[in-house]
Amino acid sequence: MAGRSNGATHLDRTDRRGFYRRAAIASGSIAYEDPHRRRAVHVAPSIAVARSGGVRQHLASARHDLSLEPRQAYAGSHIERAAFYRGDDAALAAMTADDRVRYYVVAGDLAVLKKRGEGFDPLFSPAEAAAFGATRDTVFLGLMDEAPRFGAGLDAEAVAPLKARDDLKLIDLRTIAVQAIVAAEHVPPLAEAKSVLGWHARHRFCPNCGAVTALAQGGWRRDCPSCKAEHFPRTDPVVIMLAIAGARCVLGRSPRFPQTMWSCLAGFAEPGESIEEAVRREVHEEVGLTCARVRYFASQPWPFPSSLMIGCHAEALTDKIVIDRSEIEEARWFDRDELKLMLTRKHPHGLTTPPPIAIAHHIIRAFVENGGDVLA
Ligand SMILES: [Zn+2]
Repeated sequence: MAGRSNGATHLDRTDRRGFYRRAAIASGSIAYEDPHRRRAVHVAPSIAVARSGGVRQHLASARHDLSLEPRQAYAGSHIERAAFYRGDDAALAAMTADDRVRYYVVAGDLAVLKKRGEGFDPLFSPAEAAAFGATRDTVFLGLMDEAPRFGAGLDAEAVAPLKARDDLKLIDLRTIAVQAIVAAEHVPPLAEAKSVLGWHARHRFCPNCGAVTALAQGGWRRDCPSCKAEHFPRTDPVVIMLAIAGARCVLGRSPRFPQTMWSCLAGFAEPGESIEEAVRREVHEEVGLTCARVRYFASQPWPFPSSLMIGCHAEALTDKIVIDRSEIEEARWFDRDELKLMLTRKHPHGLTTPPPIAIAHHIIRAFVENGGDVLA
């Protein structure tokens, strides 16, 4: 959202660009270099943790590990988005010629990975990415440890031939996170790439006038040549919450869940609604409970296709559960002792919570560890 019409962002960008040492490179483009970049890249993950409201994340590399607690996927990116480059076509062109540039490649909803020994590498050189065929959209994701990172979205028809290749693996981002298929530092930029490339794929026509729109700003805007409207990538806010009363809380089951898994209730925030109002409405709609206090806990980008999960705890004032069967299959009260068994996979009936990659795990865990203090 930063950079749309934010005065502070504009000042910051103007100021920072003053530090750039620009020099012509062989192609006549402009080199990019920022003496402050190293500091920015290294500070950002710590800020992400400090702001995460209690989810102590296992960050991607050893130098950022702040605890031994489980990692929440998709958040904690090491990418510096460097938004000031998005409108600088010469700098973006210079980056694509840089030896360090690498592409994350997304085909449909799947990430393309390169088999390397026993593991998988999600980074491709420009030549490797180009060899996949027609790239539908290219997005500047940012800088990782000073190296440019782009996301490349392939046409849907590229999926089948790539799937047939022995040297590649096409796989969804949920499996990548759950099975830790790539190094942790690659999961947030893959999520960033999938979300914004997916937005481009779904927004090829202007919602104002219907004309074909064009990618702009390094992939962070689409412009309409007819009515001149500018369209920005969307993130859809989803509230995900644990309604609690004393030492108990309510979990539900969606028909889509594995048979033994129970989780927090969740739903999209609607236009004209605050986070607190959305939490109270969703809890009331899904299980019939009335809630009072709502406390924000932490958030998580969720690239399916492009949501922001906003985790909360809510104080339930009523006890009787009335299930909306169109939304969930089952719901009931759980006490903290039972939740602890579920979190640690020791429940006598095999019941579980979602895995640690999901914010729901951490919302539940915080309640097990801190009880009603989560509402303080
Ligand atoms: Zn238009």
